[in-house]
Amino acid sequence: MEGRTVQAHPDIGEVREGFADQLNRLETDRVEIGMIHYVDSMADWETVANGPVMAYARELRAAGTIGCIGLSSHNPEVALAAVNTGLIDVLMFSVNPCYDLQPAGEDVEELWAPKNYENSLVNMDPQRQELYETCQRLGVGITVMKAFGGGDLLSQTLSPAGRALTALQCLHYALTRPAVASVMCGARTLEDLDASAAYEDAPESERDYAAALAALPKISWQGHCMYCGHCAPCPKGIDVAAATKFLNLCRAQGAVPETVREHYALLPHRAAECIACGACEKRCPFGVPIVENMRQAAALFGA
Ligand code: SF4
Ligand code: SF4
Repeated sequence: MEGRTVQAHPDIGEVREGFADQLNRLETDRVEIGMIHYVDSMADWETVANGPVMAYARELRAAGTIGCIGLSSHNPEVALAAVNTGLIDVLMFSVNPCYDLQPAGEDVEELWAPKNYENSLVNMDPQRQELYETCQRLGVGITVMKAFGGGDLLSQTLSPAGRALTALQCLHYALTRPAVASVMCGARTLEDLDASAAYEDAPESERDYAAALAALPKISWQGHCMYCGHCAPCPKGIDVAAATKFLNLCRAQGAVPETVREHYALLPHRAAECIACGACEKRCPFGVPIVENMRQAAALFGA
């Protein structure tokens, strides 16, 4: 259960009152996540982090009234700053294949502005990638909002990517980003809810977004690994998606974190076993230089 009650509000009295009211309405004395919502500017984050809101959230967590402290944001710069402080345990963040190509900003409307999709967009915004990988490295779980872009991504006419995706493809995209633990699905009707719930039993072919994303007219992920797994099978048994994910974690960090080294060591087959046969590159819909990535991973991890 998530308590969506603690706001980045200057009046801590109202925050306390609102939270108590919500516990009362929910008929509980504990919620799993105390979420500090809608922190999209650095100024707001500074106010939250250094003021009474964060102090109150920590007090609630210490008392066991909330299990974790969460923060919701649409701005990767703010989210990254928050995650790097170690003050938050959970991040609610807007993740979808259109937002992911947009640069950081404080105005959420800019993420959807048609002018920002007039020219072809190429590859994920580096700050967003750094955010996801930092969350994974530090163990901050991401719960996704706006996976369907308010429904626009599901519409042939409204999608800024120039072509509709399905709900299952959007969900699978979000759930396969590093550190993502869950998606808060928006639903206008019961049918919408059923369409999202169908993800649980859907076959891989219906979840698969790789071909659909590779064919989007206005967006390109050329050379960027989406961890989709289409390059499998490797004759040496290397899990290319996993090895690439660990490599990218280290690239984002500029070093090899011990936890990443340990996870990499658990792979049954590692990049050093790559014989550069190129079979995987022929199957990759995004033109990722896999042989070079495996060479770099082998050099980095020494195996
Ligand atoms: S290398 Fe290509 S096919 Fe393999 S996981 Fe990455 S994007 Fe998918
Ligand atoms: S190039 Fe390397 S990683 Fe790719 S299929 Fe061949 S052996 Fe496997």
